[in-house]
Amino acid sequence: MIALDIKSTLRVLQEEGLITQASAYRKGLALLSKAGMSNAANETLWLLESALGISRLDIHAKPDTVVDHSSWTSAKDLLLRRASGEPLQYILGTQEFRGLEIEVRSGVLIPRPETELVMEEVHSLVFPQDRLNMVDVGTGSGCLSIALAVEFPDAKILATDCSEAAIEVARSNAYRHLVQDRITFLLGDLLAPLKQVPELHSGISVMVANPPYIPTRDLATLQREVQDFEPHLALDGGADGLTFYRRLLREALLFLRPGGCLVMEMGEGQASHICEEAARLSTWHIRNIRQDDAGIDRVIALERKG
Ligand code: GLN
Repeated sequence: MIALDIKSTLRVLQEEGLITQASAYRKGLALLSKAGMSNAANETLWLLESALGISRLDIHAKPDTVVDHSSWTSAKDLLLRRASGEPLQYILGTQEFRGLEIEVRSGVLIPRPETELVMEEVHSLVFPQDRLNMVDVGTGSGCLSIALAVEFPDAKILATDCSEAAIEVARSNAYRHLVQDRITFLLGDLLAPLKQVPELHSGISVMVANPPYIPTRDLATLQREVQDFEPHLALDGGADGLTFYRRLLREALLFLRPGGCLVMEMGEGQASHICEEAARLSTWHIRNIRQDDAGIDRVIALERKG
């Protein structure tokens, strides 16, 4: 992806007289191709569908239909945002996760496919007869909490985040998927909000987390789309990227029942460090390490010993 200067960008989108659906598509495609988007044709269609409120079939089937001024103004706005590198998901407002349409906005991390592995790991740990109290630490968009609520209909879930904006998005996602009555959202740092609730102590069966795990100095090496638009609060894992794992391995012990599991996403090369840290505490048994499609150790499940 390359950043376009504003003058050449505006030239691409300049209209001569009336704009038709075909010319809107041509101009959008020219702009996003010029910006170096590898999937420019599809992205143009998605953005036009959203701005014009019509399907891509309509765009192709009725090339000569004139686009009204205000729809073209909003289409241009979306195309320009994309050309400047803003992730498509923030512009369109959603990302699919476990087959669920999850609302995303700037201020929450866009759910990644690797995070779905956390769900698969939970399924392999939990049995239908379990009475389930689950915690999602640092819920962000709420993708894990919502998926847990949908996929484990008897579970009760507590979701925390230190960002008010994230809690707002996560709650809105819970309403969108009609699971708002089974998820309690709590504002605060990691597990701190749970300390107020004594009946939760040692009562949690499963805890999931996708904590920030990028070492601070590596933030500058991330793709520009991530670096410039996604919340560093959700990415920055401290000097070695492991700050939140160290804390969670200690703090989770207060809440997990014996035999309960902590399931976490992790970054490349972090599994061995997390295992060493767990061994040092001698209260953890490593249940499983799951790899992603690229063969990277991506999810770890640790059991609190009895
Ligand atoms: N998977 C994200 C990325 O590499 C990082 C997510 C995280 O820090 N939890 O962009």
